[in-house]
Amino acid sequence: MSPEAGCGIYVHIPFCRRKCPYCDFNSIDAFSSATLRRYLRALLADIRLTAAAGTGDVVRSIYIGGGTPSLLSVRSVSTILASIAARFPIAPDSEVTLEANPASVDRKKLRQLRRCGISRLSIGVQSFQDRLLRVLGRIHNGAQARAALRQAQTAGFSNVSIDLMYAIAGQSLSDWEADLRQAIAGGACHVSFYDLTIEPGTSLFRRRRTFVQPAADRQAQMYRRGCRLLAAAGFRQYEISSFAQAGFESRHNQGYWRNEPYLGFGAGAFSYWDGVRFYKQKNVVQYIYQAQRGCLVRFGKERLCGQRRLRETLMLGLRLMRGIDLTAAAQRAGCAPDAPLQAAIAHSIEDGWLRRRGSRIRLSRRGILAYNDVVGELLRA
Ligand code: SF4
Repeated sequence: MSPEAGCGIYVHIPFCRRKCPYCDFNSIDAFSSATLRRYLRALLADIRLTAAAGTGDVVRSIYIGGGTPSLLSVRSVSTILASIAARFPIAPDSEVTLEANPASVDRKKLRQLRRCGISRLSIGVQSFQDRLLRVLGRIHNGAQARAALRQAQTAGFSNVSIDLMYAIAGQSLSDWEADLRQAIAGGACHVSFYDLTIEPGTSLFRRRRTFVQPAADRQAQMYRRGCRLLAAAGFRQYEISSFAQAGFESRHNQGYWRNEPYLGFGAGAFSYWDGVRFYKQKNVVQYIYQAQRGCLVRFGKERLCGQRRLRETLMLGLRLMRGIDLTAAAQRAGCAPDAPLQAAIAHSIEDGWLRRRGSRIRLSRRGILAYNDVVGELLRA
């Protein structure tokens, strides 16, 4: 349990003011302030119980995500960070991210968050255009998104990331370009963009027939245009959906893609620790109940070893533009790729989805757009 690279900590805040129709994250929008208080106590118990079991690894990144963590008071954020710092060794240069919704921050709150130890802000903008934000059912408007970006900078955040979305019904290529240009002009030093995916179980899924997204080739064009515009503005693409000015790559997310260990606190939070992947109770009320009794169940426990671990490491590592070193991955997994995996990799290289240089493989430009299919082949091998 002592990876040289240290570990990450993820804290899940499953509360939102209103559920977005496309969202399948573990978040709820009907909750009382008493539930919120009880959840915070449960979270602190979760941190205490985990630390008591002993970990010892240096924490290199903390990520408070959700949900909408910016709904929390600054005092609550401070309490969570203090509880972690009291029980885990934190690297002096650790990255501490908080996800924020533009509608739940203002200059004063951002300044206080900066002072209480948040070093990186990830703002869920999605679009700067009111029409598209309404289509997405977001609670904020374009003016609030622009204000949040400005206020983050005046509050002293030099590391600000924003999330954008494409493939929205009614979104043209020029709408998409306008959003990217505003993100660049607004001073974000990190941009993540995602295509809107209609997930089963969401309210958008139920009305999917009337929600007409741009055609697949137009979506691919939007993706490529996004990459080009950001590259021209000095952003380096380091992952399929992530672009950063030099030195502003997300340390926390890179830990996931390198299959490094992390601990998750909160309802439904995943952990990958000691080669075992597991998650906590998803239901908020049940999670609180378990934490009160000091017995947080680990669900879906799965030990990743051998070929399974190697395939998982490949799946995650191929998201990175630099790809993955097969020799190093095999060393960590304790086994070389078996014959079916070797054959699948060779086929993907022959077909132009993967590129190989020495022991390193990475997605080709064409492969990036077909990531799910490419890794699907490797996982099935
Ligand atoms: S704000 Fe984020 S987590 Fe909350 S409902 Fe919308 S997409 Fe889901």
